[in-house]
Amino acid sequence: MNARRASRWCAALAIAAAGAVVFAQAPPATPQATQMDSMAQTYVKLVLAMGLHDTDYVDAYYGPPEWRQEVQTQRPSLDEIALSAGRLSAALSTSAAASGEMERLRREYLDRQLAALRARIRMLKGERLSFDEESKALYDAVAPTHPESHFRKILDALEKRFPGEGPLVARYDAWRKPFVIPREKLDSVFQTAIKACRERTAGHLTLPADESFTVEYVTNKSWSGYNWYQGNYRSLIQVNTDLPIYIDRAIDLACHEGYPGHHVYNVLLEKHLVRDRGWMEFSVYPLFSPQSLIAEGTANFGIEVAFPGEERAEYEHRVLFPAAGLDPSRAAEYYEVQALVEQLSYAGNEAARRYLNGTIDAAAAAAWLEEYALMSPERAKQRVRFFDQYRSYVINYNLGKDMVRRHIESRGGTPGNPKQRWEEFGRLLSSPRLPSGLTGGGGGGER
Ligand SMILES: [Zn+2]
Repeated sequence: MNARRASRWCAALAIAAAGAVVFAQAPPATPQATQMDSMAQTYVKLVLAMGLHDTDYVDAYYGPPEWRQEVQTQRPSLDEIALSAGRLSAALSTSAAASGEMERLRREYLDRQLAALRARIRMLKGERLSFDEESKALYDAVAPTHPESHFRKILDALEKRFPGEGPLVARYDAWRKPFVIPREKLDSVFQTAIKACRERTAGHLTLPADESFTVEYVTNKSWSGYNWYQGNYRSLIQVNTDLPIYIDRAIDLACHEGYPGHHVYNVLLEKHLVRDRGWMEFSVYPLFSPQSLIAEGTANFGIEVAFPGEERAEYEHRVLFPAAGLDPSRAAEYYEVQALVEQLSYAGNEAARRYLNGTIDAAAAAAWLEEYALMSPERAKQRVRFFDQYRSYVINYNLGKDMVRRHIESRGGTPGNPKQRWEEFGRLLSSPRLPSGLTGGGGGGER
């Protein structure tokens, strides 16, 4: 997940008397650019206004604090926000055509982000969308549907790996016990993983010299980790310690929330789009929007970019297992099983789809997650709480990752070409590309 408030605003930016934002490095404004900037400012205020009605909506904001104050003073109703958003969409559709690729992407991005905002208003006002309609409206993508038989084949392979009586998830959980990171070693293991992820990322992407983040350990959340981007190249990363944290989560969280995941994504958007170009719409991050599919997809795919192929198991064997006091000779075995379990990731989407469509209740959704996604009973319950809070957002993780992979590999960033892989990855993190604008196949249909 990602970011939150804290409206510190330093940067090479000044607020002019008329309220316009002036950037030291921003290119000279053309009439089209001025028109887009004005529409972008209206969009930012609409997103901030949504935050008054939906506490999870504004994931990050580091633009001018005056804009937030203005919205807080005016306190527009949902109907007023809907009216303004409709007008802005209409104005955008009749505005001057974009002159280059980045400008074209900017315009399309604003259009889709606005459409998602309008869909979220309809949801808050009580309109019921199906799971797939909702994910299309909010995240610009639809996850494939898989029958039970698809997961059954993978579960059969795991049954052979863990023969015995009782539910497979109980046998799998018992086998996993020796791979839990002891609580007292959690922070040192995470810090080691973060350092490794940062080194690998900084070797391929140019990061601002003063970027950094802090890590906090929290409880009683529906998610396992969260990056709250603060602006000014800073993140606060929270790790939820409600449930046992297994050794694979160290690299997963360090890459996903930090390098080259959410922290780097937000830092590069701030650097390349907000500061260098003055595109203020990127100073706000509405959680229920297409941007989240790109955010979660790049954060998950980034793990493979930073640790391709066998490198991860090798690194964990050599460094992280010893750091956590775990038996390094079992690292390869652990990752062989994890690779199989990873293939069950779409089972989580099926549980969410059925639950949110109203065909199964919370208890049945948790039971489905235990049986088909091999989640422990506690983890399954936490996941259903996540469904309640974030709904079809779940598709952004696995579908997002698959879409990002296809996009990067279709542009030559294959595993055999790591230089191009990092280049394409960095380009995606620095541009306003929509899920439907990714190449290599979209998010619909059966696979
Ligand atoms: Zn995330």
